Amino acid sequence: MNQVAINLVYIASAACFILGLKMLGRPESAPRGNLLSAVGMAVAVVVTLLSRDILTFEWIAAGVALGSIIGAVAARRVQMTAMPEMVALFNGSGGAASLLVGWSAVAGTSVAGISTLPAFGLSTVVASVLIGGLTTTGSLIAYGKLSGRMNSAPVQLPGQAFLNILLVAGALAAGVMFVLDPVVGGLPFWVVLGTALVLGVTTVIPIGGADMPVVIALLNSYSGLAASAAGFAINNLLLIVAGALVGASGIILTDIMCRAMNRSLGNVLFSGFGSTSGGTAVEGEARPVSAEDTFLMLEAATSVVFIPGYGMAVAQAQHVVRELAEVLEKNGAEVKFAIHPVAGRMPGHMNVLLAEANVPYDQLIDMEDANQMLPRTDMAVVIGANDVVNPAAREDEASPIYGMPIINVDHARTVIVMKRSLGAGFSGVQNRLFFAENTRMLLGDAKASLSALLGEFKD
Ligand code: NDP
Repeated sequence: MNQVAINLVYIASAACFILGLKMLGRPESAPRGNLLSAVGMAVAVVVTLLSRDILTFEWIAAGVALGSIIGAVAARRVQMTAMPEMVALFNGSGGAASLLVGWSAVAGTSVAGISTLPAFGLSTVVASVLIGGLTTTGSLIAYGKLSGRMNSAPVQLPGQAFLNILLVAGALAAGVMFVLDPVVGGLPFWVVLGTALVLGVTTVIPIGGADMPVVIALLNSYSGLAASAAGFAINNLLLIVAGALVGASGIILTDIMCRAMNRSLGNVLFSGFGSTSGGTAVEGEARPVSAEDTFLMLEAATSVVFIPGYGMAVAQAQHVVRELAEVLEKNGAEVKFAIHPVAGRMPGHMNVLLAEANVPYDQLIDMEDANQMLPRTDMAVVIGANDVVNPAAREDEASPIYGMPIINVDHARTVIVMKRSLGAGFSGVQNRLFFAENTRMLLGDAKASLSALLGEFKD
């Protein structure tokens, strides 16, 4: 294929990515957006393989087969609650691939050949190795912390920030030396590669496991930047565009997550959040309620808002809650699901689970709409959510979560909270909602409680 035809196909693929990304913004169009982006990628891969004399097809077929088997087995085995660590591994693979692509752009080149390369091309090789290396080891640490294979507590050593600055300065200096005197097996190249791998560890290890999803979004952005740099290094238009899209969307996602927690990126990266708790102590007595009494309240309710959180994912209660919602609708109640942007442990966590259970999209409402609706709602039913409904975020200036936007479930007439204990959530902050006048605690595993309620309705 000639280069013009290839570039035209690449532009069509890039258009698929951009449209696909846009469609991912709405739950209704997200599956089609995903498919469109995948088609764009498949076409780009085929065209790249047909057009370039990269490797023999036997090697390519072996690589595709091996990758597909690993991917299919991993995707089938992964639990929904383990999705964030799976994404961490994906990002790490992306970073490692960019590192290798950048490296290979100069690896086979003779000394005479490499010195004819422009400084910009060599800089992009340095960028892909540096950012790709950092992303690889950073993602592995994120995976270790999230999967429990490593201690998830923040590890903060004296002088850590200084060490990181020193490493970045060393990597940049070595990068400049490589561009000025490009020898692939030379010391500057190895210094760039080595410091990149060390930086991934030293920048992610001080962050608590609880903040890893934000770090993963950031690493996702880095893997895009590394891919884009690798695209410049091998002069591939589509890799440049696709990498830039991933880089930009990753940083936007990071920003959305930080805002939803009312924290700055600096606070996420450097504060060691998750190692302390705080806020004004809560006094009062929680009022337990039985499934039978909750059933009587729900039966009489004309409007019900479910607020799912991380506990719904743990309990895998999404299918039962959908069944209960159907029963309530048949009973004449208006039913909605209010989704907080950081409910669960990864962006869109609740949307994915509810979509899996076939909850209709028009029943999903965002935080702003929920907060308008709740004051005229009969019952707010909290399913394993904690921080995202904690009024301390609104009322207690001493609380670490003060200022975080929450779903104001306490504004509903009656609140039912389903969880196993009165314990704190992810932030470690006690929840004053549990002691409010209009709250009743339905203690136990969320799936068991919802099944008991469903049983009552069926009886
Ligand atoms: P939380 O982590 O605050 O609370 C979850 C609650 O679920 C726990 O208090 C736990 O209580 C309960 N739970 C656990 N297992 C079960 C079960 N089987 N049945 C019933 N309840 C159960 O979750 P939220 O969703 O409210 O908040 C998410 C938190 O994660 C926020 O602080 C957010 O900032 C943070 N975060 C979210 C990210 C994201 O992308 N979504 C990224 C980074 C951080 P008990 O043990 O008593 O049952």
